[in-house]
Amino acid sequence: MDEFELIRRYFDRQQDSQDIRIGIGDDGAVLVPPVGSEIVNVIDTLVSGVHFPCDLDAADIGYRAVAVNLSDIAAMGSRPRWMTLALTLVDADPAWLSEFSRGMFEAADQFGVALVGGDTTQGSQLVVTVQLTGTVMPGAAITRSGAVDGDLIFVTGTPGDAAAGLQLLKHHSVQCDDRNALIGRFRRPDPRVVFAGLIASMASAAIDISDGLYGDLQKMLKASGVAGTLELAALPLSSAMQNLFERDAAIDFALGGGDDYELCFTAEPAVESQLMETAATIGLRMSRVGQVSSGAGLVCRDGGHVIAYQHDGYRHFEETVGA
Ligand code: ADP
Ligand code: MG
Repeated sequence: MDEFELIRRYFDRQQDSQDIRIGIGDDGAVLVPPVGSEIVNVIDTLVSGVHFPCDLDAADIGYRAVAVNLSDIAAMGSRPRWMTLALTLVDADPAWLSEFSRGMFEAADQFGVALVGGDTTQGSQLVVTVQLTGTVMPGAAITRSGAVDGDLIFVTGTPGDAAAGLQLLKHHSVQCDDRNALIGRFRRPDPRVVFAGLIASMASAAIDISDGLYGDLQKMLKASGVAGTLELAALPLSSAMQNLFERDAAIDFALGGGDDYELCFTAEPAVESQLMETAATIGLRMSRVGQVSSGAGLVCRDGGHVIAYQHDGYRHFEETVGA
Protein backbone atom coordinates (compact mmCIF):
# COMPACT_ATOMS: atom_id res chain seq x y z
CA MET A 1 0.00 0.00 0.00
CA ASP A 2 1.60 3.27 -1.07
CA GLU A 3 1.12 6.64 0.60
CA PHE A 4 -1.72 7.71 -1.69
CA GLU A 5 -3.63 4.48 -1.32
CA LEU A 6 -3.21 4.80 2.45
CA ILE A 7 -4.66 8.33 2.46
CA ARG A 8 -7.53 7.29 0.21
CA ARG A 9 -8.39 4.25 2.31
CA TYR A 10 -8.19 5.64 5.82
CA PHE A 11 -8.41 9.42 5.73
CA ASP A 12 -10.07 10.76 2.60
CA ARG A 13 -13.74 10.90 3.44
CA GLN A 14 -15.91 12.85 1.07
CA GLN A 15 -17.15 15.89 2.94
CA ASP A 16 -19.99 17.92 1.62
CA SER A 17 -19.75 20.90 3.85
CA GLN A 18 -20.55 24.55 3.17
CA ASP A 19 -17.41 25.70 4.97
CA ILE A 20 -14.97 23.60 2.89
CA ARG A 21 -14.33 24.75 -0.68
CA ILE A 22 -11.42 22.35 -1.21
CA GLY A 23 -10.49 19.54 1.19
CA ILE A 24 -8.12 16.57 0.88
CA GLY A 25 -6.55 16.04 -2.54
CA ASP A 26 -5.13 19.39 -3.57
CA ASP A 27 -1.95 21.11 -2.44
CA GLY A 28 -3.87 22.95 0.22
CA ALA A 29 -7.31 23.13 1.77
CA VAL A 30 -9.53 26.13 1.02
CA LEU A 31 -11.84 26.91 3.90
CA VAL A 32 -14.71 29.33 4.34
CA PRO A 33 -14.96 30.89 7.80
CA PRO A 34 -18.21 32.67 8.71
CA VAL A 35 -18.09 36.28 7.49
CA GLY A 36 -16.35 38.52 10.02
CA SER A 37 -15.18 35.71 12.28
CA GLU A 38 -11.67 35.34 13.69
CA ILE A 39 -9.57 32.20 13.26
CA VAL A 40 -8.16 30.25 16.22
CA ASN A 41 -5.32 27.85 15.42
CA VAL A 42 -3.99 25.15 17.72
CA ILE A 43 -1.61 22.21 17.24
CA ASP A 44 -0.42 19.34 19.39
CA THR A 45 2.03 16.54 18.74
CA LEU A 46 1.84 13.14 20.40
CA VAL A 47 5.03 11.07 20.35
CA SER A 48 4.76 7.34 21.04
CA GLY A 49 6.40 6.45 24.33
CA VAL A 50 6.49 10.08 25.40
CA HIS A 51 2.87 11.25 25.37
CA PHE A 52 1.24 7.84 25.49
CA PRO A 53 2.40 4.25 26.17
CA CYS A 54 3.67 2.54 22.99
CA ASP A 55 1.08 -0.23 23.33
CA LEU A 56 -1.95 2.06 23.72
CA ASP A 57 -4.85 1.00 21.45
CA ALA A 58 -4.67 2.65 18.03
CA ALA A 59 -8.26 3.92 18.34
CA ASP A 60 -7.38 5.65 21.62
CA ILE A 61 -4.30 7.26 20.06
CA GLY A 62 -6.47 8.63 17.24
CA TYR A 63 -9.14 9.83 19.65
CA ARG A 64 -6.64 11.51 21.99
CA ALA A 65 -4.81 13.27 19.17
CA VAL A 66 -8.03 15.08 18.26
CA ALA A 67 -9.33 15.52 21.82
CA VAL A 68 -6.22 17.29 23.14
CA ASN A 69 -6.53 19.85 20.36
CA LEU A 70 -10.26 20.26 20.95
CA SER A 71 -9.40 21.04 24.53
CA ASP A 72 -7.18 23.95 23.46
CA ILE A 73 -9.92 25.18 21.14
CA ALA A 74 -12.40 24.97 24.05
CA ALA A 75 -10.09 26.93 26.33
CA MET A 76 -10.16 29.75 23.76
CA GLY A 77 -13.96 29.71 23.70
CA SER A 78 -13.80 28.86 20.02
CA ARG A 79 -15.94 26.65 17.80
CA PRO A 80 -13.86 23.83 16.26
CA ARG A 81 -14.19 23.33 12.48
CA TRP A 82 -11.29 21.89 10.48
CA MET A 83 -8.21 19.84 11.20
CA THR A 84 -5.13 18.57 9.41
CA LEU A 85 -3.14 15.48 10.37
CA ALA A 86 0.61 14.93 10.09
CA LEU A 87 1.30 11.26 10.59
CA THR A 88 4.72 9.63 10.85
CA LEU A 89 4.41 5.85 10.73
CA VAL A 90 7.00 3.15 11.29
CA ASP A 91 5.06 0.89 8.91
CA ALA A 92 1.67 0.86 7.22
CA ASP A 93 -0.23 -1.77 9.20
CA PRO A 94 -3.81 -1.88 7.84
CA ALA A 95 -5.34 -3.11 11.12
CA TRP A 96 -3.63 -0.33 13.09
CA LEU A 97 -4.53 2.36 10.55
CA SER A 98 -8.14 1.28 10.43
CA GLU A 99 -8.45 1.49 14.23
CA PHE A 100 -6.51 4.74 14.42
CA SER A 101 -8.73 6.47 11.86
CA ARG A 102 -11.86 5.07 13.52
CA GLY A 103 -10.85 6.62 16.88
CA MET A 104 -9.77 9.85 15.24
CA PHE A 105 -13.04 10.30 13.32
CA GLU A 106 -15.05 9.32 16.40
CA ALA A 107 -13.68 12.36 18.25
CA ALA A 108 -13.88 14.60 15.18
CA ASP A 109 -17.48 13.65 14.33
CA GLN A 110 -18.61 14.19 17.89
CA PHE A 111 -17.58 17.84 17.67
CA GLY A 112 -18.32 18.52 14.01
CA VAL A 113 -14.69 18.73 12.89
CA ALA A 114 -13.67 17.83 9.31
CA LEU A 115 -10.28 16.45 8.27
CA VAL A 116 -9.20 18.66 5.37
CA GLY A 117 -5.59 17.66 4.73
CA GLY A 118 -2.39 16.32 6.13
CA ASP A 119 0.97 14.76 5.51
CA THR A 120 2.00 11.12 5.69
CA THR A 121 5.58 10.04 6.21
CA GLN A 122 7.61 7.04 7.26
CA GLY A 123 9.96 7.33 10.22
CA SER A 124 11.58 5.43 13.05
CA GLN A 125 8.91 6.32 15.59
CA LEU A 126 5.14 6.84 15.59
CA VAL A 127 4.38 10.58 15.78
CA VAL A 128 0.88 12.04 15.44
CA THR A 129 0.37 15.77 14.98
CA VAL A 130 -3.11 17.25 14.68
CA GLN A 131 -3.62 20.89 13.84
CA LEU A 132 -7.10 22.23 14.49
CA THR A 133 -8.72 25.45 13.38
CA GLY A 134 -11.71 27.03 15.03
CA THR A 135 -13.61 30.25 14.60
CA VAL A 136 -14.81 32.84 17.04
CA MET A 137 -16.67 36.14 16.75
CA PRO A 138 -14.33 39.17 16.81
CA GLY A 139 -12.88 39.76 20.26
CA ALA A 140 -14.85 36.89 21.82
CA ALA A 141 -11.94 34.49 22.40
CA ILE A 142 -11.22 33.71 26.06
CA THR A 143 -7.56 34.29 26.87
CA ARG A 144 -5.29 33.41 29.78
CA SER A 145 -4.76 37.04 30.63
CA GLY A 146 -8.17 38.35 31.67
CA ALA A 147 -8.39 37.32 35.35
CA VAL A 148 -8.73 40.20 37.84
CA ASP A 149 -8.56 40.64 41.61
CA GLY A 150 -11.77 39.32 43.20
CA ASP A 151 -12.59 36.76 40.47
CA LEU A 152 -13.39 33.21 41.49
CA ILE A 153 -11.48 30.20 40.15
CA PHE A 154 -13.45 27.25 38.77
CA VAL A 155 -12.58 23.85 37.37
CA THR A 156 -14.63 21.33 35.39
CA GLY A 157 -14.74 17.59 36.06
CA THR A 158 -12.47 15.79 38.49
CA PRO A 159 -8.83 16.64 37.76
CA GLY A 160 -6.21 14.02 38.55
CA ASP A 161 -8.18 11.07 37.18
CA ALA A 162 -6.23 10.79 33.92
CA ALA A 163 -2.83 10.82 35.66
CA ALA A 164 -4.04 8.24 38.16
CA GLY A 165 -5.38 6.19 35.25
CA LEU A 166 -2.07 6.37 33.40
CA GLN A 167 -0.27 5.14 36.49
CA LEU A 168 -2.69 2.22 36.84
CA LEU A 169 -2.33 1.43 33.13
CA LYS A 170 1.46 1.34 33.37
CA HIS A 171 1.45 -0.88 36.45
CA HIS A 172 -0.98 -3.47 35.13
CA SER A 173 -2.87 -3.31 38.42
CA VAL A 174 -5.81 -5.61 39.27
CA GLN A 175 -8.93 -5.01 37.15
CA CYS A 176 -11.89 -3.30 38.78
CA ASP A 177 -14.54 -0.73 37.82
CA ASP A 178 -12.76 2.16 39.56
CA ARG A 179 -9.50 1.31 37.80
CA ASN A 180 -11.22 1.14 34.43
CA ALA A 181 -12.98 4.45 35.06
CA LEU A 182 -9.67 6.22 35.74
CA ILE A 183 -7.88 4.58 32.79
CA GLY A 184 -10.84 5.60 30.61
CA ARG A 185 -10.21 9.22 31.58
CA PHE A 186 -6.67 8.90 30.20
CA ARG A 187 -7.66 7.03 27.03
CA ARG A 188 -10.59 9.25 26.10
CA PRO A 189 -10.30 12.83 27.35
CA ASP A 190 -13.60 14.69 27.23
CA PRO A 191 -12.79 18.15 25.84
CA ARG A 192 -15.11 20.78 27.30
CA VAL A 193 -16.01 22.35 23.97
CA VAL A 194 -19.76 22.59 24.58
CA PHE A 195 -19.44 24.03 28.06
CA ALA A 196 -16.80 26.55 27.00
CA GLY A 197 -19.06 27.73 24.20
CA LEU A 198 -21.86 28.32 26.70
CA ILE A 199 -19.80 30.22 29.26
CA ALA A 200 -17.37 32.08 27.00
CA SER A 201 -18.99 35.44 27.62
CA MET A 202 -18.97 34.94 31.41
CA ALA A 203 -15.38 33.72 31.85
CA SER A 204 -12.68 36.34 32.37
CA ALA A 205 -9.79 33.94 31.63
CA ALA A 206 -9.38 30.25 30.84
CA ILE A 207 -6.77 27.54 30.35
CA ASP A 208 -7.14 23.82 29.69
CA ILE A 209 -5.39 21.49 32.09
CA SER A 210 -2.81 19.47 30.22
CA ASP A 211 0.10 19.65 32.68
CA GLY A 212 -1.72 19.63 36.01
CA LEU A 213 -4.13 22.05 37.69
CA TYR A 214 -1.52 23.75 39.86
CA GLY A 215 0.98 24.48 37.09
CA ASP A 216 -1.61 25.45 34.51
CA LEU A 217 -3.50 27.71 36.91
CA GLN A 218 -0.18 29.28 37.80
CA LYS A 219 0.41 30.02 34.09
CA MET A 220 -3.01 31.65 33.76
CA LEU A 221 -2.54 33.82 36.88
CA LYS A 222 0.90 34.89 35.69
CA ALA A 223 -0.47 35.82 32.26
CA SER A 224 -3.16 37.88 34.01
CA GLY A 225 -0.70 39.56 36.38
CA VAL A 226 -2.57 38.41 39.49
CA ALA A 227 -2.20 36.00 42.43
CA GLY A 228 -4.52 33.21 43.55
CA THR A 229 -5.47 30.81 46.31
CA LEU A 230 -6.50 27.18 45.80
CA GLU A 231 -8.62 25.52 48.50
CA LEU A 232 -7.56 21.89 48.60
CA ALA A 233 -10.72 20.89 50.48
CA ALA A 234 -12.72 22.15 47.50
CA LEU A 235 -10.86 20.04 44.92
CA PRO A 236 -13.38 17.75 43.25
CA LEU A 237 -12.16 14.15 43.54
CA SER A 238 -13.94 11.35 41.69
CA SER A 239 -15.32 8.42 43.66
CA ALA A 240 -13.00 6.12 41.70
CA MET A 241 -10.03 8.22 42.79
CA GLN A 242 -11.19 8.25 46.41
CA ASN A 243 -11.77 4.50 46.41
CA LEU A 244 -8.32 3.68 45.06
CA PHE A 245 -6.06 6.36 46.55
CA GLU A 246 -5.43 7.98 49.93
CA ARG A 247 -6.35 11.67 50.15
CA ASP A 248 -2.74 12.91 49.90
CA ALA A 249 -2.08 10.87 46.77
CA ALA A 250 -5.41 11.93 45.26
CA ILE A 251 -4.62 15.60 45.85
CA ASP A 252 -1.18 15.12 44.35
CA PHE A 253 -2.77 13.71 41.21
CA ALA A 254 -5.34 16.52 41.13
CA LEU A 255 -2.70 19.25 41.47
CA GLY A 256 0.19 17.81 39.53
CA GLY A 257 -1.16 15.10 37.24
CA GLY A 258 -1.39 15.96 33.57
CA ASP A 259 -3.63 14.79 30.73
CA ASP A 260 -6.95 15.85 32.30
CA TYR A 261 -8.04 18.26 29.58
CA GLU A 262 -10.48 19.83 31.98
CA LEU A 263 -11.10 23.55 31.89
CA CYS A 264 -9.83 25.92 34.58
CA PHE A 265 -11.30 29.40 34.35
CA THR A 266 -12.06 32.54 36.29
CA ALA A 267 -15.18 34.68 36.48
CA GLU A 268 -16.59 37.43 38.67
CA PRO A 269 -18.69 36.30 41.68
CA ALA A 270 -21.84 37.86 40.17
CA VAL A 271 -22.04 35.13 37.49
CA GLU A 272 -21.30 32.14 39.74
CA SER A 273 -24.89 30.90 40.01
CA GLN A 274 -25.41 31.26 36.27
CA LEU A 275 -22.24 29.25 35.63
CA MET A 276 -23.37 26.53 38.04
CA GLU A 277 -26.77 26.34 36.35
CA THR A 278 -25.18 26.12 32.92
CA ALA A 279 -22.94 23.25 34.04
CA ALA A 280 -25.91 21.47 35.64
CA THR A 281 -27.94 21.83 32.43
CA ILE A 282 -25.41 19.74 30.50
CA GLY A 283 -24.70 17.38 33.41
CA LEU A 284 -21.15 18.60 33.89
CA ARG A 285 -19.51 18.79 37.28
CA MET A 286 -18.07 22.22 37.94
CA SER A 287 -16.44 23.35 41.18
CA ARG A 288 -15.29 26.59 42.68
CA VAL A 289 -11.75 25.89 43.86
CA GLY A 290 -10.26 29.25 44.70
CA GLN A 291 -10.03 32.96 44.36
CA VAL A 292 -7.98 35.55 42.51
CA SER A 293 -6.23 38.34 44.41
CA SER A 294 -3.80 41.09 43.59
CA GLY A 295 -0.08 40.34 43.57
CA ALA A 296 1.70 37.30 42.22
CA GLY A 297 1.93 33.58 42.95
CA LEU A 298 -0.41 30.71 43.75
CA VAL A 299 -1.00 29.56 47.33
CA CYS A 300 -2.74 26.34 48.37
CA ARG A 301 -4.76 26.28 51.59
CA ASP A 302 -6.18 23.35 53.48
CA GLY A 303 -8.28 23.76 56.61
CA GLY A 304 -6.71 27.12 57.40
CA HIS A 305 -3.18 25.89 56.75
CA VAL A 306 -1.03 27.22 53.95
CA ILE A 307 0.34 24.30 51.97
CA ALA A 308 3.62 24.48 50.11
CA TYR A 309 3.07 22.59 46.91
CA GLN A 310 5.87 21.39 44.70
CA HIS A 311 5.63 19.08 41.75
CA ASP A 312 7.19 16.28 43.74
CA GLY A 313 4.36 16.45 46.23
CA TYR A 314 2.80 18.84 48.66
CA ARG A 315 3.57 19.44 52.34
CA HIS A 316 2.18 21.39 55.20
CA PHE A 317 3.73 24.62 56.40
CA GLU A 318 3.76 25.00 60.14
CA GLU A 319 2.29 28.48 59.83
CA THR A 320 -1.47 28.77 60.33
CA VAL A 321 -3.53 31.48 58.68
CA GLY A 322 -7.09 32.59 59.29
CA ALA A 323 -9.52 30.12 57.68
P1 ADP B 1 1.83 17.46 -1.22
O1 ADP B 1 2.88 16.60 -1.82
O2 ADP B 1 1.30 18.53 -2.12
O3 ADP B 1 2.19 17.98 0.14
P2 ADP B 1 0.63 15.00 -0.54
O4 ADP B 1 0.89 14.18 -1.73
O5 ADP B 1 1.49 14.86 0.65
O6 ADP B 1 0.57 16.52 -0.98
O7 ADP B 1 -0.87 14.73 -0.06
C1 ADP B 1 -1.90 14.62 -1.00
C2 ADP B 1 -3.18 15.11 -0.37
O8 ADP B 1 -3.52 14.27 0.71
C3 ADP B 1 -3.09 16.52 0.20
O9 ADP B 1 -4.33 17.15 -0.02
C4 ADP B 1 -2.87 16.30 1.66
O10 ADP B 1 -3.39 17.37 2.42
C5 ADP B 1 -3.61 15.01 1.92
N1 ADP B 1 -3.04 14.18 2.99
C6 ADP B 1 -1.81 13.65 3.08
N2 ADP B 1 -1.68 12.91 4.20
C7 ADP B 1 -2.87 12.97 4.85
C8 ADP B 1 -3.37 12.44 6.05
N3 ADP B 1 -2.64 11.67 6.86
N4 ADP B 1 -4.64 12.75 6.39
C9 ADP B 1 -5.39 13.53 5.61
N5 ADP B 1 -5.00 14.05 4.45
C10 ADP B 1 -3.74 13.78 4.07
MG1 MG C 1 1.87 20.02 -3.04
